[in-house]
Amino acid sequence: MSESIQPWQHSIKHAIRSWETLRDLLELPIEEAREPSSASSKFPLFVTREFVARMEKGNLHDPLLLQVLPHREESEALDFELLDPVGDLHAEIVPGLLQKYKSRALLITTSACAVHCRYCFRQNFPYEAAPKSLDDWEPAFDYLEKDASIDEVILSGGDPLMLVDAKLGSLMQRIESIPHIERLRIHTRLPVMVPSRVTNEFCSALQRSRLTPWIVLHINHANEIDDQVSRSIEMLRGSGAVLLNQAVLLKQVNDRADVLESLCRKLVNLGVMPYYLHQMDPVQGSARFTVPISEGLALIKDLQSRLPGYAIPKYVAEIAGQPSKTELQGSLLELHNSLA
Ligand SMILES: *Cc1c(COP(=O)(O)O)cnc(C)c1O
Ligand code: SF4
Repeated sequence: MSESIQPWQHSIKHAIRSWETLRDLLELPIEEAREPSSASSKFPLFVTREFVARMEKGNLHDPLLLQVLPHREESEALDFELLDPVGDLHAEIVPGLLQKYKSRALLITTSACAVHCRYCFRQNFPYEAAPKSLDDWEPAFDYLEKDASIDEVILSGGDPLMLVDAKLGSLMQRIESIPHIERLRIHTRLPVMVPSRVTNEFCSALQRSRLTPWIVLHINHANEIDDQVSRSIEMLRGSGAVLLNQAVLLKQVNDRADVLESLCRKLVNLGVMPYYLHQMDPVQGSARFTVPISEGLALIKDLQSRLPGYAIPKYVAEIAGQPSKTELQGSLLELHNSLA
């Protein structure tokens, strides 16, 4: 069966790959706008036009632009920044399958994304060695079949929605054929980068599936959600999937209580639960985005005074070797000290 080119694939094909195009589209002040470093050749600028359309013209500090704009710093890595900050390479049990935590395993579905986020912790993952076709994943499926303690498969990457519906469908069916798998989780930024990727075909596949679908979106700022994104999120909800969001705490992007508040409010209005606020992993060349943990804790405390409890994400860090993501909590210690 040959599949025709879908509108969302056009969006990927015509995504922006050059600094000059981005500068011209956004009418950025040329004098101020320094040319991004050549160090970006390994992980070049890449962003969809849909996402760029939500950026403010002429604003070099736009919170969406900052997430995708390469920076000289990327070629001047600091010592404490690592190539594999979260220990992914140690967690790979068979090619393309990571298991760090009990009862769930993560399949590196593809290396491709619809955006290159400058703070991405998987930007150095050796994707070349990861499986590319359904057959290549067989060792991973074998492993899953033998380990009945795993009841959830997480499709991540890269971005699993970069696969065309037919391929994603066969992958889902293969996972469904493993009796002890109950839930399918999909980590994706595509509904934000290319809202038209949320096709009827994909939604019906979720609806038909024996597995309970959980979708974890990745949205860092309320400006990322326009009407088209809202409609895609509504379609996903219509499929019966449970929707969560994870955000990364990023300096100048979302490190203010009012910014996080409007993000969380917009999410819960759309029926998406704020799940995690990640302390950024110290990946090579991303120090400009670092927010100190003490500030992150203060932000969460502030959010708690503004929003209902269900709208507050868990503030977490990923510490290699730990049995789960580590929740960062200041309040208990504070309470203890104030009572002492
Ligand atoms: C983050 C992560 C998960 C998911 O963890 P949850 O706390 O269940 O969201 C699973 N596997 C790997 C390898 C991860 O990095
Ligand atoms: S979408 Fe996710 S995996 Fe892809 S570059 Fe951004 S943070 Fe990395």
